[in-house]
Amino acid sequence: MTQKHDNFINGQWVAGASYTPNINPSNLGDVIGEYTQGDAVQLDAAVQAAQAAFPAWSTGNVQARADALDKIGTEILARREELGTLLAREEGKTKPEGIGEATRAGNIFKFFAGECLRLTGEIVPSVRSGVAVEITREPLGVVGLITPWNFPIAIPAWKIAPALAYGNCVVLKPADLVPGCAWALAEIISRSGIPAGVFNLVMGRGSVIGDPLVNHPGINGISFTGSQGVGGRIAQQCAVNLKKVQLEMGGKNPQIILDDADLAQAVELSVQSAFFSTGQRCTASSRLIVTDGIYGKFVEAVQARMATLKIGDALAAGIDIGPVSSLSQLQQDLDYVAIGQAEGAQLVAGGARLERTTEGFYMAPALLLDTTSAMRINREEVFGPVASVIRVKDYEAALAESNNTPFGLSAGIATTSLKYATHFKRHSQAGMVMVNLPTAGVDYHVPFGGRKGSSYGSREQGRYAQEFFTTVKTAYIGA
Ligand code: NAD
Repeated sequence: MTQKHDNFINGQWVAGASYTPNINPSNLGDVIGEYTQGDAVQLDAAVQAAQAAFPAWSTGNVQARADALDKIGTEILARREELGTLLAREEGKTKPEGIGEATRAGNIFKFFAGECLRLTGEIVPSVRSGVAVEITREPLGVVGLITPWNFPIAIPAWKIAPALAYGNCVVLKPADLVPGCAWALAEIISRSGIPAGVFNLVMGRGSVIGDPLVNHPGINGISFTGSQGVGGRIAQQCAVNLKKVQLEMGGKNPQIILDDADLAQAVELSVQSAFFSTGQRCTASSRLIVTDGIYGKFVEAVQARMATLKIGDALAAGIDIGPVSSLSQLQQDLDYVAIGQAEGAQLVAGGARLERTTEGFYMAPALLLDTTSAMRINREEVFGPVASVIRVKDYEAALAESNNTPFGLSAGIATTSLKYATHFKRHSQAGMVMVNLPTAGVDYHVPFGGRKGSSYGSREQGRYAQEFFTTVKTAYIGA
């Protein structure tokens, strides 16, 4: 018998109408647990519980809030190995990557525990004599948090922690592919001393739970991370209902390699950000833009490095890359390799399904050469271990190609030239720019987000999170 996991509503564990097995993508015979599927009635109960809890929580003692968040962070960090293992088992990133993500989640709660005590306002002179003006921030209200499958503990953490720190009440709807980490996080939160109704977990499908959450009149704001298609629809629904919304979506992140780059460093950071975590990072670099002078050496060295990558069970020691997370994602990855080839790209490495001792969704990382920015493979997010190379003449052409995309999340440059690095930082149209670092891999205490089709609304993480999770009040005080 596998363990059954329920929704957390108004301080109680509540069974939904049915349960879905959570399957390990490294080993399809391994069922991690059964997770309940909620419905619109449960969702409504969660929103009502959050509304009822809001007056006391939003005006309550900030030390109590800080203590609760600190307790959650402490427990996550103490259990990072166990939580990271669960993460690797349900999502497919390697165990060290899973532990790293769990550590990040713990650190985020610790950071926002401190932020509870650091919320400030402004007092400014009034233009009228005898009047004082105060500008303060207040919680937004009840927020709906909708999260994707690729960072099953870090993304829920980076939305829940600021939401609670700034005095909001929460309804979390995690991705239905990976409910395990969200449930484990909810279980930790349930023992943190946070009052009933302040935090609620409702698991289930996007159409069944996500859609009514977005449209519920009791919800004051939606913080969403996921695909551009779903995000765009959510933005429209929020606009119609005049709700605050924040969207973090896909990427088609460029990694420029200039002639003067340190070759070994450029190869390592390109392979890292294109293929590690199975390429399933919104910040993964899927377009390697390489100047003529280093092109031959770089492509050869990348292929040599790719040949050393160990692909296998996410929980096994010494593995570089785990499986793709689901069959539908694997099919999408393979389809895009075929689309790229049909468009004229040359597949020089990987791109096929792999067999291992256990049945899982394994794929050999793919490298496509002779690609152009007009090709679908360079315009649409694949979200798998698939990278394409665009050859250019010089820095100016590389910069133009890097910005030639509907997305704008992260962008990198490998160069030893201060001149080009400085110019790129200013002229890249991405929200995050990396110099001699992988496009993926960011700190937890600074703003995260993109431009163009990658993001909509204010930034997440760090102090900038208060832009979304608070609303500004201007108070005038007469004599
Ligand atoms: P997705 O859009 O399919 O799903 C995201 C979430 O939305 C899930 O919880 C899903 O159940 C829910 N959902 C689906 N339909 C809905 C609806 N009609 N109404 C409300 N909610 C609905 O995305 P995914 O496949 O889980 O994640 C992969 C995507 O996430 C990629 O595009 C990736 O780039 C993006 N992503 C972005 C960031 C970032 O911060 N920019 C981080 C991680 C992932």
